Amino acid sequence: MGIAAKLSCTNCEYSQHVFVGIGFRFLDLRAILEWYKPEEGREQIKAFMREEDARVVCYKGVYACEHCGYLLNEVYLHIELQTQSYTNHYDCPRCHTQMPKQPFQREVEIECLDCPECEGGKLDVNYDMDWD
Ligand SMILES: [Zn+2]
Ligand SMILES: [Zn+2]
Repeated sequence: MGIAAKLSCTNCEYSQHVFVGIGFRFLDLRAILEWYKPEEGREQIKAFMREEDARVVCYKGVYACEHCGYLLNEVYLHIELQTQSYTNHYDCPRCHTQMPKQPFQREVEIECLDCPECEGGKLDVNYDMDWD
């Protein structure tokens, strides 16, 4: 289901392991609540769980900071019910601006990322085993 990959810069020492995609505990709110940590999101999950038809989109992806290029491998969580919705969000750990709303999760997107540490560096992607 999900993909594990190692990103490494062809130009400098930067490397990072990332996981993208859906895990088996990502499919419904009850399962997500077992591992999801941020308090704000947990409150939202509990509130939406009271309703039968809440729809959830949850996957792991790579957020790329538009300001400084930092890459953050985190969980995207979006819940909606009729006209209400909740989407989680992150601030960049390096420059503290808000990350884009959606992370990259497709292989073609991951393969186009730029190095966050050096000017003009491209990232090589090596896929490991599937996870989950
Ligand atoms: Zn680099
Ligand atoms: Zn940043």
